[in-house]
Amino acid sequence: MSSVRPKKHLGQHFLKDLTIADNIANGLTGHGDYHKVLEIGPGMGVLTQFLLTQATETWAIEVDRDSIPYLQQHYPSLKERIIEGDFLKIDFLKSTGAPLAIIGNFPYNISSQIFFRILDFRNDIPEVVCMLQKEVAERLASPPGNKTYGILSVLLQAYYDIEYLFTVKPEVFNPPPKVNSGVIRLKRNKVSNLGCDEVLFKRVVKAGFQMRRKTLRNALKPINLPTELIEHPMLNQRAETLSVEDFVTLTNLISSCQKRV
Ligand code: SAH
Repeated sequence: MSSVRPKKHLGQHFLKDLTIADNIANGLTGHGDYHKVLEIGPGMGVLTQFLLTQATETWAIEVDRDSIPYLQQHYPSLKERIIEGDFLKIDFLKSTGAPLAIIGNFPYNISSQIFFRILDFRNDIPEVVCMLQKEVAERLASPPGNKTYGILSVLLQAYYDIEYLFTVKPEVFNPPPKVNSGVIRLKRNKVSNLGCDEVLFKRVVKAGFQMRRKTLRNALKPINLPTELIEHPMLNQRAETLSVEDFVTLTNLISSCQKRV
């Protein structure tokens, strides 16, 4: 069958360069921690073919129906392990089992949503290697104090060690995206519990960055800071200067005041 026509609304930019595809596949290093890997959006399988040569069991989830017969025909060994549907909606672990690594040249338009979903399943996902818009890749790997450090940087760094691996130029895709791409690796850290109310932690991080130019004192107004905390020096800072540990400390300060009320 002929090749799959790229569709913009599915964020399809097919990688043409086999060496880069091989390098992305080799970005997975934690094979001892899992025996299965799920590729999000295999498209025409440029990356999949390198995964199939590895010892791990390869699974793929693809939303584009046009890709499915193409993959089945070109990679018969993958046949039983292609999940047809939307990564954001399907209970993929039910099919694959856990622990499971995730890999992919992600559809850039939904990369944040993909990460929120990965976070939901973080205890079953020990490693992620993915290509994203370079700017987003850098942001996720960014340390505090950097202008690009944001909500997902904190939420992901709370549970994963993140490393920027390499940059990929637009010319190696069909069609070329407008921006450079970056490949990152996320490895699950040992943290099973942050040591604070994790729901409140998420609210504090989100509210803090919603108004990132303001001090936390102002940015956190929507979550009703306890009055006794208003003068706390930590609130003079902006969200972008706080590490994961600082956010945990702040969350605990808020909860302990709330408990005493
Ligand atoms: N891996 C291929 C294709 C990358 S383009 C390559 O490198 O050439 C992104 C792929 O993600 C496309 O194949 C697209 O159809 C798929 N995709 C987009 N949204 C998806 C979703 N919600 N769930 C699963 N796959 C999706």
